[in-house]
Amino acid sequence: YDELAAFDPDIAGVLLSELERLRGGLQLIASENMSSPAVLTALGSTLSNKYAEGYPGRRYYGGCSEVDKAENLAIERCKDLFDADHANVQPHSGASANQAVYGAFLSPGDTILGMALPMGGHLTHGTKVSFSGKWFNAVHYGVDKRSEDIDYDQVAELAREHKPKVILAGGSAIPRLIDFEFFRNLADEIGAIFWVDAAHFIGLVAGKAIPSPVPYADVVTFTTHKVLRGPRSGALVCKAEHAAKLDKAVFPMMQGGPQMHTIAAKAVNFKECATPEYAAYVNAVIANAQALAAGLDAHGIRPTTGGTDTHLSLHDLQAVGVTGADAEARADAAGIVLNKNAIPFDPAKPNVASGIRVGTPSVTTQGMGPEQMKTIADLIATAVTKGDADPDNAVSKEVRAQVHELVGQFPAYPR
Ligand code: PLP
Repeated sequence: YDELAAFDPDIAGVLLSELERLRGGLQLIASENMSSPAVLTALGSTLSNKYAEGYPGRRYYGGCSEVDKAENLAIERCKDLFDADHANVQPHSGASANQAVYGAFLSPGDTILGMALPMGGHLTHGTKVSFSGKWFNAVHYGVDKRSEDIDYDQVAELAREHKPKVILAGGSAIPRLIDFEFFRNLADEIGAIFWVDAAHFIGLVAGKAIPSPVPYADVVTFTTHKVLRGPRSGALVCKAEHAAKLDKAVFPMMQGGPQMHTIAAKAVNFKECATPEYAAYVNAVIANAQALAAGLDAHGIRPTTGGTDTHLSLHDLQAVGVTGADAEARADAAGIVLNKNAIPFDPAKPNVASGIRVGTPSVTTQGMGPEQMKTIADLIATAVTKGDADPDNAVSKEVRAQVHELVGQFPAYPR
């Protein structure tokens, strides 16, 4: 750090002020976490310098003996962690891992069946603004109006009608467990590939807190930086029969040189995930998410589906008469970072939205428990229903002071 500070005080200042931002507020973005100093050390290493196109033992560059060791460790640890036939740890991100699935199994114009973005899916699941919706014919299912959980009848109907080549389960705002067996049987019935995008919940699977999609799916893609708590990146695991196809789709079809520093950091993270401490952590993440959802519910900020089985909950703000956008801005002014989110059948535009999404990976990493979740729910409710987007507003100031007091007891990256 000293060398950086001497040469580039501007960027050194950003690094420090970001750390202060993390320490000074409540981080409730469901897709974020705080990776360990061990992971960050591997990320900031000389492995970043190395070109290593290809795979271990089959590189297009010399000098790969050391990075081969890192990638082999990452692959073996990933396979062990998820009990998978094959792992590819090179995708640069969740979106890159998803591209590889399209590359391996689909040609432009082919049909895919996935969850609609406004119902909880992801951009890369066939939305019009993404390559996936521009180049492929995406058919989308949603959630049931009453249960607000995946509408399995609709999934089956659409699959039988459209005969997609690939059926996709997973998304960014699904609070409940997914019935993988249902999807597997349906894919078998119509002769489709079954793909799970487990970006959000793979960490819970790694800690054995929820059922794994790996025995059911042909391929499982994921990010490594959400509950999993690794570096910002992606990976995939698959059945042996698809290994060669998916490897070729990652490189050379979709990517160039792998980021060897990030792959080393993924290896560190997979080792962390195999520990009893990590298993305890993910169980605490879920208990906290349930406590936070119940706490908000008590203030009339209703969790969709009635609660959560995972690390996140989605809340409907219509009963308290606040938009998602206003809630996000008011919480932010009070030192609480969360995001506005469309709720199922949302009457509002996506950039306004009627809901918020909250998640507990970061606050659980900081050591907070259900008691703190109740306090956080109270603080969110006050900020959202009585506060203002102006940080100088009296309510913003008062809530922010309480947030500071709370995070002071559970510091992020303790000194
Ligand atoms: N898939 C899902 C379900 C996600 O939630 C996300 C990101 O939030 C992605 C894919 C994309 O991951 P990345 O941002 O690493 O490209």
